[in-house]
Amino acid sequence: MSEDAFDAIIVGGGLAGLTAGYVMAQAGLMVLLVEKGNYSGSKNVTGGRLYGHSLEKVIPEFAEVAPLERKITKEKLSVCRNGQIETQEYPASSVTDPSGYSYSVLRAKFDKWYADECEQTGVELICGVRVDDLLIRDGKACGIVAAGEEMEANVVLLADGVNSLLAQKIGLRDSRPAAADQITVGVKEVIELGEDVVNHRFGFQSGEGVAWMFLGCCTDTQGCDGFLYTNKDTVSLGVTMRVDNIPSLDKTVPQLMEDFKRNPMIASLIEGGKLLEYAAHLIPEGGETMMPKLYGDGVLVLGDAAGLAANLGYTVRGMDLAIESGRLAAEVVIAAIEKERYDSSTLAAYEQALKESFVFPCMREAESSLKNSKAGNYRNSASTLDESMSWILLSGNDANKVNIPDKLGINKFHTDEFNAHVEVDKAYPDKTEMDLLVRACPAALYSVDEKGTLFFDYLGCLECGTCRILSERKVVKSWNYPQGTLGIEYRMG
Ligand SMILES: Cc1cc2nc3c(=O)[nH]c(=O)nc-3n(C[C@H](O)[C@H](O)[C@H](O)COP(=O)(O)OP(=O)(O)OC[C@H]3O[C@@H](n4cnc5c(N)ncnc54)[C@H](O)[C@@H]3O)c2cc1C
Ligand code: SF4
Repeated sequence: MSEDAFDAIIVGGGLAGLTAGYVMAQAGLMVLLVEKGNYSGSKNVTGGRLYGHSLEKVIPEFAEVAPLERKITKEKLSVCRNGQIETQEYPASSVTDPSGYSYSVLRAKFDKWYADECEQTGVELICGVRVDDLLIRDGKACGIVAAGEEMEANVVLLADGVNSLLAQKIGLRDSRPAAADQITVGVKEVIELGEDVVNHRFGFQSGEGVAWMFLGCCTDTQGCDGFLYTNKDTVSLGVTMRVDNIPSLDKTVPQLMEDFKRNPMIASLIEGGKLLEYAAHLIPEGGETMMPKLYGDGVLVLGDAAGLAANLGYTVRGMDLAIESGRLAAEVVIAAIEKERYDSSTLAAYEQALKESFVFPCMREAESSLKNSKAGNYRNSASTLDESMSWILLSGNDANKVNIPDKLGINKFHTDEFNAHVEVDKAYPDKTEMDLLVRACPAALYSVDEKGTLFFDYLGCLECGTCRILSERKVVKSWNYPQGTLGIEYRMG
């Protein structure tokens, strides 16, 4: 190990990586965090509800200083029964207990703030650099390769998100992408309404907000769930669809989002709003069975990269799990540095710590929620529903057609005109495979003409990874993130 080696290098400046960095730097470790986006949060997307309990342990009273949108004071759950929507409304859980508070957040703002806190604590942060490989010596991870340079560390923490190409590369995850039945694609729009309009339409005082989930009923498509979170002067609105359901869809994924928006009830809530951003991202939701090996010699896997997220129907969680995993991983690394032992048996303490925390029970709940949804039942919907309203279902007719180029035109991209980060086989012999990608891509970048010729343009890619999950080694010949600094730059997230 060279003299200028770090104690730890973290790949990925989302909530898992930032938390690990913050805690290790606070303990006096030399920490390098490498993020491929131009700033932390610029590649990250969430629905919007951060449960504060795990960050509270890292930065007590963070809510006083962090850029939060609104405190969640009300929850709503809409479930479709016999062609009717039944909506239950109730005060946000633990609204009287500070450790249970939750907040709507926009990741581009929130992660940026958190990254600044990390730098002030001593984390060396490099943004705009994609880590391409890990340095492995004698079977042990001892650094990273990024932008053609090697950087060394005693321990590497992989917090590189749901697609975690690096965990796959070093054999901690299966050599194939995650299975389509364990991954959900989420499409999200941030719509500006103005603070007064948000308050008025949702019946709030300033600062109060709602987390509203729609189970299986937001469009006329089975298996498509929806969410709505109120922000300060915007709403975060989106749909989610398990990737293995896409082959049987009779419409495209972007069309699902459009149908949701055009539902009369949703349409009235966002009327007059201005689209600020169109985003897509994957959510791991397989529970314990989809988790990779969490540690190896000199390496730990955190957050979404470790499959740590839970779609429970009445709520989606991943941010609090990412933060908890970051904190627990940091504590294990701090102890390892003291002992000067970085082998897998020492780092195994991380898995044990996760098992003893709320994370593993949450992952088990995620798994049973997924089983329920596969069996055609609602996930974990509340049993008593007291308010009901009729729901006019819209079919995907021409009037609803979605204009994706307009939506992408609102986004900020740093285009790489020369290097395609996704390469496709345009001569792939099976047209069904091509059609699948046309249906799946949230950015509608795949199309097939009447002669069966495939067209694909990687510019405009939202970097979600859905096409990789569905078709790697078939139509999709190779898939990577764009080079650091390039590609989508989320301003909301
Ligand atoms: C539509 C949707 C709705 C959701 N709703 C909620 C919700 O309401 N509440 C909730 O708690 N959770 C929710 N989640 C889940 C939650 O957003 C994630 O679980 C959480 O963001 C995971 O954090 P992370 O730090 O592990 O990963 P990420 O936030 O994805 O961060 C990974 C980081 O690694 C970087 N990176 C990746 N590869 C490299 C590389 N090779 N080199 C350098 N950097 C790299 C990325 O740029 C990124 O910044 C939702 C997710 C989605 C998609
Ligand atoms: S090309 Fe693939 S990674 Fe890019 S937006 Fe479409 S499905 Fe997602």
